[in-house]
Amino acid sequence: NSGGNVRVVVRVRAFLPREINKGAQCLIDMDPVTNVTKLLVPESAENFDPRTKGRKVVEEKSFTFDNSFWSHDEADEHYAHQEDVYNCLGEEFLDHNFEGYHTCIFAYGQTGSGKSYTMMGTPERPGLIPRTCEDLFQRIESNPSPNISYSVRVSYFEVYNEHVRDLFVPRRDPPNYLKIRESPTEGPYVKDLTEVPVKGYIDLMRYMRMGDLNRTTASTKMNDTSSRSHAVFTIMLKQIHHDMETDETTERLARIRLVDLAGSERAKSTEATGQRLREGSNINKSLTTLGRVIAALADPRHGRSGGKKHKEIVPYRDSILTWLLKDSLGGNSKTAMIACIAPSDYDETLSTLRYADQAKRIRTRAIVNQDSVS
Ligand code: ADP
Ligand code: MG
Repeated sequence: NSGGNVRVVVRVRAFLPREINKGAQCLIDMDPVTNVTKLLVPESAENFDPRTKGRKVVEEKSFTFDNSFWSHDEADEHYAHQEDVYNCLGEEFLDHNFEGYHTCIFAYGQTGSGKSYTMMGTPERPGLIPRTCEDLFQRIESNPSPNISYSVRVSYFEVYNEHVRDLFVPRRDPPNYLKIRESPTEGPYVKDLTEVPVKGYIDLMRYMRMGDLNRTTASTKMNDTSSRSHAVFTIMLKQIHHDMETDETTERLARIRLVDLAGSERAKSTEATGQRLREGSNINKSLTTLGRVIAALADPRHGRSGGKKHKEIVPYRDSILTWLLKDSLGGNSKTAMIACIAPSDYDETLSTLRYADQAKRIRTRAIVNQDSVS
């Protein structure tokens, strides 16, 4: 049994062309040694200091996370590349998977803050998901022991408008939504979700890309490639160990969950209307509930002996996303949250950093998932 806090890291992205065109200011300051992230108040008439001819920095907000990834300007010696994020977080989580632990890494942040870039990346600059898949098969293929065999299966679904859709099944009209069930041993799961066995990295990547193409995306005023859905990519890694001497077989099962959440911004800030607004408010239901779940789990009274009552009030079942991620948020999993932030959006960044700060207090209790089979 390994209890530990949710690991919370923060990553700030570079300016986008539209921000450069606007002459946007970078409001983020990160200290790579202390991992302190500062959010500065934007320069404006009210906080302009005539003596320094700059902003008054009295109001800056300070946060400390487990890691801070400075991906704002590539010229900086502390610039965090995709590879650095993997080496610092992804690799260690994959170590845990081979030890038999479930893990979950989720990216949180407003639309356009770099969640998909961090999780999926681009073909030239692959993110955590493809790097995890590649490393996974590299480890399997370099395993020297004839007594260990592996099976890898993947699934990919999205939560959109409080509905679950299988991303390995082509879109249909009317859409085929899947139901959630809860098993006493395995917890909540998606009924009839496609789980495909994969033989190698190329195979896995093909499924991943196919699923990505099936993702629901719709344009909003804020970012026209923004996705309004939560995407959950899951790899099940089974290690079968056969002991020649005792003729005993044991299995270790690890679930690797990689989650790209929908944009955390409120619907009103995108000036969304009509259908978009309805989607926005529904997505906020999962995100708002996620916030409430995090708040309940971060409450110091939670999990304390005699705190049974408190356990029951964690509102996992109030949204599809939190119900499905129940185990990853407050149960048998080692979990990390990547707070993605834009460099020049004060309000949204402050809300993301506060959210992330609260998540630091959550503890999960991961166990090695090992069984003897005859
Ligand atoms: P989100 O998924 O949070 O909506 P994206 O990952 O799509 O945001 O990122 C928005 C834009 O910023 C994309 O064009 C992406 O390529 C770019 N971007 C995000 N993070 C980085 C980064 N660390 N370095 C370079 N470009 C980035
Ligand atoms: Mg995205």
